[in-house]
Amino acid sequence: GTGPYDPENIFAKILRGDIPCKKVFENEWVLAFYDIAPKAPVHVLIIPKKPYVSFIDFNKTASAQEIAAVMQAAGQIAHDLHLEESGYRIITNAGQNAGQEVPHFHLHLLGGKALPPFPA
Ligand code: 5GP
Repeated sequence: GTGPYDPENIFAKILRGDIPCKKVFENEWVLAFYDIAPKAPVHVLIIPKKPYVSFIDFNKTASAQEIAAVMQAAGQIAHDLHLEESGYRIITNAGQNAGQEVPHFHLHLLGGKALPPFPA
């Protein structure tokens, strides 16, 4: 969740365009794309373009504008994908105990079905 940022992580490669993604949203601060192994009918990953290992350093070091941009993107995507009426879940795994696999901060946006009680 902390420590040095690895510029070879998979989301860094997606941000560089080295590997493809199915993009759902992009602006100055944020990129969002579909998860390659979806855990729900809608499973989108929302990431800042700048390098943060996890929420731990994102929350400590990102500007208020950038933090707002990520949260606003999540809400905008949920709106655009028609998830507001049915509801949705936003999760971030930070570090080892949460099982974070990709060391670039990301929000999971999950919806499109009744989700299992949290934590599943
Ligand atoms: P974490 O466990 O770090 O919270 O979540 C990482 C997520 O990234 C997982 O849900 C996994 O399916 C997704 N993922 C891993 N590699 C890729 C990839 O190459 N492309 C996309 N779109 N998603 C990926």
